Amino acid sequence: MSRHSSWESRKLRYWAECSGQSRRAGLPASHPAPAASPAQARLESYVLEQLGTSPDLCAHPFGISSLTSSSTCLTLHLDTYVGRERHSFPEHCLSRLLPAAPAPGSGDELPGIPGLRVRGIEDCGRQLLLHSLDSLGRAASLVLALPGGLSEGWEEIERRHRHWCEGNGLRPLWTTPGLGPVESACLNAFPSLERSRERRAAVGSALLRRIALFHTVTAFYRVQCWDDGDTWKIDAHTAHPRARWHDQLLQRLCHPRWGLPVNVSDRFCHCAEPYAPYQWGHTCSFYFAGHTTEQDDPIYLRVHASPEGRDYDRQIKTLRRTGAPAGWMSRAFPRHAIQHHDQHYQAQQLR
Ligand SMILES: [Zn+2]
Repeated sequence: MSRHSSWESRKLRYWAECSGQSRRAGLPASHPAPAASPAQARLESYVLEQLGTSPDLCAHPFGISSLTSSSTCLTLHLDTYVGRERHSFPEHCLSRLLPAAPAPGSGDELPGIPGLRVRGIEDCGRQLLLHSLDSLGRAASLVLALPGGLSEGWEEIERRHRHWCEGNGLRPLWTTPGLGPVESACLNAFPSLERSRERRAAVGSALLRRIALFHTVTAFYRVQCWDDGDTWKIDAHTAHPRARWHDQLLQRLCHPRWGLPVNVSDRFCHCAEPYAPYQWGHTCSFYFAGHTTEQDDPIYLRVHASPEGRDYDRQIKTLRRTGAPAGWMSRAFPRHAIQHHDQHYQAQQLR
């Protein structure tokens, strides 16, 4: 194989791993995860904040099974379900992303992303086109694509969410023209928070554009991410007693050509110590430093190994219900955990 084709093949592998798409789909852009424009990055960092702390498990991190990105648009392919009760993930997504005005005088915060608007529904009801306008008038766009197995379309899901809002004293804002006074007030309430959000937006967007790495090159059954006002914090849980595969993730995140403009500045890894006593529930943590930014730690990643000990029945049951791929399940959970769950399940069936 020539040097050129092996380079192309590594680039294709990086693209497939960070987008969650099949390699057969090919590499559509010149960069596997192109950088977003400033307005686009700002919208995406909001999306990461809103979807990064889902209350329950999805088949993929943040319910995103795969994605495609360009400098001015991001398309997210969504999971079908979230949680043990199998709530509709696309509907959950709308409740986190679409802005609605709380009842006047209620003192409640505005749910959703201020300024986000529905532009239309395409592809026979399968794609919801969203765009946002910020206070500077800069535009950004987001496309939410429904999973293949779901029979209902976006019209129905959006209508149901609208009824839910109206029944709960919230006024939907996602089809109103321009930025409403409630949204402007929300954006102008904390100028210093907005400025620091702007600073961290590029890293947030770059993380979201590589979110599938947390599924494709690691074995984390749960990933959560939030912005603590200083740093993007990522909390990952693995069911393996030693936090395997975190180095592959670090290598992809810090890839010199296609990764984020960051490197690991400090690592506290317990599983790398060869004679460390075997223990449940330890944590490996990694601080990242930016190549160019003045910020010390743009990202902080913690990997919790086996926080639940040996029994993962609840997680395995939930993930199977949400449709997590079987091949990934067998990598994410030790064999004894799957066996324990299956025996427990069979025993319940016989009762
Ligand atoms: Zn470790």
